[in-house]
Amino acid sequence: MNESEMRLRIMGDNLPDSYIYQFTYQDEKPRFLYISSGVERLHGVKVDDVLQDASILLKRVAPEQLPAYLEAEAASRREMTDFSMDMRLQHIGGEWRWVHIRSRPRKLENGQVVWDGLVADITDRHLFETEINRLAQAVEQNPSGILITDLQDKVLFANQACMRITGYQFAEIYGKTQRELISTELTDAQFDEIKTFLKAGKPWLGVLKNRNKQGVLYWEQINVSPVYDDTGTIASYLYIRTDITESKKVEEELRQYKDRLEEQVLERTMELVLARDAADTANRAKTVFLANMSHELRTPLNAILGFSNLMRNDPTVSESQLVNLNIINRSGEHLLNLINEVLDMAKIEAGQVQLDNASIDLGCLVRDVNDMMQIRAQEKGLTLLLDQSSEFPRYIKGDEARLRQVLINLIGNAVKFTVQGGITVRLGIRENTRSHLLIEVEDTGVGISDENQRHIFEPFVQVGEYAVNQGSGLGLAITCQFVELMGGQLSVKSELGKGSVFLVDLPLEAVNAADINRHEGISKSNVLGLAPNQPIFRVLIVDDQLENQLLLTKLMDVLGFPVKTANNGVEAIEQFQRWKPHIIWMDRRMPTMDGIQATQHIRKLPGGKAVKIVAVTASAFVEQRDELINAGMDDFVRKPYRFNDIYDCLSQLLGVAYIFELPPVALATEPSVLALTSDRLAILTAACRDELKEALECLDSDRITNAIAQVERLDAELYKTLSYFVANFDYPCILKALSSHEENY
Ligand code: ADP
Repeated sequence: MNESEMRLRIMGDNLPDSYIYQFTYQDEKPRFLYISSGVERLHGVKVDDVLQDASILLKRVAPEQLPAYLEAEAASRREMTDFSMDMRLQHIGGEWRWVHIRSRPRKLENGQVVWDGLVADITDRHLFETEINRLAQAVEQNPSGILITDLQDKVLFANQACMRITGYQFAEIYGKTQRELISTELTDAQFDEIKTFLKAGKPWLGVLKNRNKQGVLYWEQINVSPVYDDTGTIASYLYIRTDITESKKVEEELRQYKDRLEEQVLERTMELVLARDAADTANRAKTVFLANMSHELRTPLNAILGFSNLMRNDPTVSESQLVNLNIINRSGEHLLNLINEVLDMAKIEAGQVQLDNASIDLGCLVRDVNDMMQIRAQEKGLTLLLDQSSEFPRYIKGDEARLRQVLINLIGNAVKFTVQGGITVRLGIRENTRSHLLIEVEDTGVGISDENQRHIFEPFVQVGEYAVNQGSGLGLAITCQFVELMGGQLSVKSELGKGSVFLVDLPLEAVNAADINRHEGISKSNVLGLAPNQPIFRVLIVDDQLENQLLLTKLMDVLGFPVKTANNGVEAIEQFQRWKPHIIWMDRRMPTMDGIQATQHIRKLPGGKAVKIVAVTASAFVEQRDELINAGMDDFVRKPYRFNDIYDCLSQLLGVAYIFELPPVALATEPSVLALTSDRLAILTAACRDELKEALECLDSDRITNAIAQVERLDAELYKTLSYFVANFDYPCILKALSSHEENY
C-alpha cells in the first residue's frame, strides 16, 4: 500500500455517511480488497466478514434491483466503464437505506482490474425526492385545474386538468396573465376585486362563467390563494379551478323542477280550494234545503198531530172515529219520526251535530224510556225488563236527548224484531284506564245473520224478511254515529232465530245529584184548565198559517186566556202596541217580516222588555236555539209540539198552574186490541184471507183497507185489531197469523 492509498483509507474510515472500497475478481470470484468502516454503519455488516465474503453485501441488495445491479457491473467489467447506480440495501437490523454507488475500473500492471468505489447514503434525499414526486403527481393528476402564477399574475405552472378545462396547451398559456386567459365574461371590476383580495393576503372564492379556447361557455368555480415563501412573503398565487357546468346544469334543472312543482302545488291547492268551496256551498245548500223542507213538512204535521190529538180528547167522538183519529195520529207520528231520522242523518253528514255535555239523571232517563217502550212491548205481548241487578251511576255527564234517542232506537228495534219472549235492558260499568258505561239491550227476536250484522249499521240498510216496511233503515246508522260522537262504540251479537244483543260502550263521567239542573216538566196528564186563583194573561199568537193559529188558540181557550192573532211580524208589532199582551207565541218564518225581526223591534218599544216572547219554530235544527235567544226570545218550542210543551212553557215563563185530568189518559184512548191469533182468522173466508195476504204482501194500502173493511161486518173486534196493526204498519204480524192459520187448518 502506497502512501496515497494510505491517506485515502484514513479518509474513507472518517467519511460520515459513506464508505469507500476496492473491488476485484479473483479466479472469477468477486472480492473486496479493501472496504472502509462506514459499511458497518450503513448496513450493519463487519468489514472483515465482507473482506472474507463479498456476497454478504450482495445479499443485502433489494431483490428487485439485483438483476439490474449484476447487469451494470458486468457492463462495467466488459467495457471498462464507470459504474453508477442508486440502490436500496437492507441493514442487518431490518431498516432499508438508499445508497448511491459510484466506481471506476482501472487495470493494474499485472493485468488485474480493480474498481475504486464510493457508496454514499442518500436515504434522506431519496425520501425528499419521493415526497416531491408524490406532491407533483398529486398536483398534476388532480381533477381540479391547478394553476400557479407569479406576483404579476403570469402563469408559471398549470396541471393537466387546467389544460382540459381551458382547452389550451401549457406552452400557450405559460407566461400569460389571467386577464388574457379568462374570457371577457369576467368584468374588470371582478378582476380588481380578486387582485385586492390577494394583495391583502386573503383567499378569493367565486363562481363565474368562462369561455374555453374553443369559445364554449362553461361554469367555473375559482379559488385563489396567496402562497408564502419561507420568509413569509407572498411568492406566488395558487388558483384552483373547478368545472362546475354539470352541477350548475343539475342545479338549474332542480330549480326549474322546484318552480314547476311549486306551480303545480299552487294549481292543485287552487283546485282543492275551489272543490272545497263547491262542496261547502253544496253542503250549505243541502242544509238550507233540509231546513226548508223540514219546515214545510213540520208545519202541516203540527196541525195534523195537534188537531187529531184535540179530537181524541173530545168525549163526543165515537169509537170508530177514535180508531180513525188514532190512525191519523200514529201515521203523523210515524212521518215525523222519518223526517227526524233523515234530518239527523243529514246533520251528521254535514258535521253539524253538537253534543251537549250536561249533568243528567241517567236513572230517570232509563226509567222514562222503559215506561214509554213498555206500551209497545205490551201491545205485542212481549216482556220488557230492566235487569234489576243492573248497577250504574244515577247521575252522569252527557247529552240527554241523544242518549234517549239511542235507547229508544235499540229498545224500539228489539220490540219491532221480536215476536215471542221479551227484551231485557241491562246497565253496568266497566273499569279499565277509565270508566265506561255499558248498556245492553237483549231480545229473543228474529236475530241477524253474521253476514247481515256487517251491514246493519250502514244508512238505509234493512235486512231480513221482517225488516220490510218497518222503518227507514236509518235508526242504527244514527245510533251508531251518536255513540261514536260520544266517544263510545256500538256492537252487536246475534244468532239467527234466537235473538240479538246490542251493546253500547260509552266513556263515563259520574256527577253528584247536586249538579243536576232539575227542570221538572209538568205532569204528563192532560191539562183541563187553570188552577184556582190564577191571573189571566193576554196572549198574542203570531203565525202565517191559519191552522197553527187555530190550534194554539184552542190550547189557550182551555185556560180561558184572551187571545189575539197576527199573520206576520208587522201585524204583531201593531197588536203589541195596541193590546199589550203578556206573552207572544211567535212563528219564526213569516212573509213581510219574520219572527226574529219582529222580536228585535218589539224589544225596543215601551214595555217591549217585559213581554214574554216564545219562538214557535218548525226549524229542523236545535242548534238554531242560540240565534233565537240572541234575537231576544225568552224560549222556544219546536213544531210539531206536544200540548204539554206549550203549557210547560207558560208555567216556566209566567208561573201558570193547572188542573189535570186524572188518571192519565194516554192508554185510555187506545182501543182495546186483542192478540191476533190464527184461530181468530177462522171466521174469514179463504178468499178474504187470500186477498188480505196479497194486499199486505204488495204493500197496497187501498187494497189492505178494502180487505179489512170486509172483516168489519163479520167480526168488529177482529176488524179493530187488524186496523190497529195496519195503522202501525205491523203487516208482518198479520201475515204471520195468516200463515200459521194456513198451517193449522
Ligand atoms: P229500521 O228503521 O229499518 O229498523 P235500523 O237502522 O234501526 O233501521 O235497523 C236496520 C236493520 O237492522 C233492520 O231493518 C233490521 O233488519 C236489523 N235489526 C236492527 N235491530 C234488530 C234486532 N233487535 N233484531 C233483529 N234485527 C234487527
